[in-house]
Amino acid sequence: MTSHGRQFIKDLRTQSVSALFRGRPVISENISAEEIKAVSTLCPVKAIDSKSGSIDLGRCVFCIECSFMRPESIRFTNDFRIATNSREALIVNPGNENTIRLDEAKVRREIRKLFKGALKLRQVSAGGDNSCEMELAASGNVNFDFGRYGIEFVASPRHADGIVITGPVTENMEKALNICYNAIPTPRIIILAGTDAISGGIFEGSPALNRKFIEENHIDLYVPGNPVHPLTFINGVMDLLGINCN
Ligand code: SF4
Repeated sequence: MTSHGRQFIKDLRTQSVSALFRGRPVISENISAEEIKAVSTLCPVKAIDSKSGSIDLGRCVFCIECSFMRPESIRFTNDFRIATNSREALIVNPGNENTIRLDEAKVRREIRKLFKGALKLRQVSAGGDNSCEMELAASGNVNFDFGRYGIEFVASPRHADGIVITGPVTENMEKALNICYNAIPTPRIIILAGTDAISGGIFEGSPALNRKFIEENHIDLYVPGNPVHPLTFINGVMDLLGINCN
């Protein structure tokens, strides 16, 4: 009988990833005004504040062009735990090397009470390009296996406890997104997966978008990435549910 070896990641919290992985950035506290100006002008999605030099992970597409331009001032670590429940926490300031975690005070109490043992999610691609969608699907494969925590994607919003939105939310998908969300029984969770969903990404400001849904509803979890990595997504959901938190 052939052995397939270990077929799953034993500890999703501490799994080591390639040094080339583009995760949480670290910006030197000594970055000069001149450097900030240069990298903020270069950034294709205006993720770098031209005054403070901070990087907004809700906008960043992780192209790391800024790091190529000023490697001594900006580097991207392979820390994949960058999901949080606060939009402000996605902004990384110069000199800040702190890890990104959820704001416990903002986690709705009913989420852990009702969904810690089993969380069913409906995924809606609202103008997505199938990259985040593919990574989310991988979260349930034999390697990442988020089903071990009772987390899974389901086909019907009627069977779901929450919605995971990918894509920048196009006008054409706005109605479908609302219909899907309203078909989910309350209380329900909203997760934004990927830069496009969080800010519109490279499509931000396009007249083809309608982001009213995002602006008007409470977001429980922001998962940055372009696309999101399964480890980032699963760790974010585990944090939200209070599973093996650290
Ligand atoms: S890695 Fe992010 S912050 Fe840097 S240039 Fe690319 S999009 Fe902008």
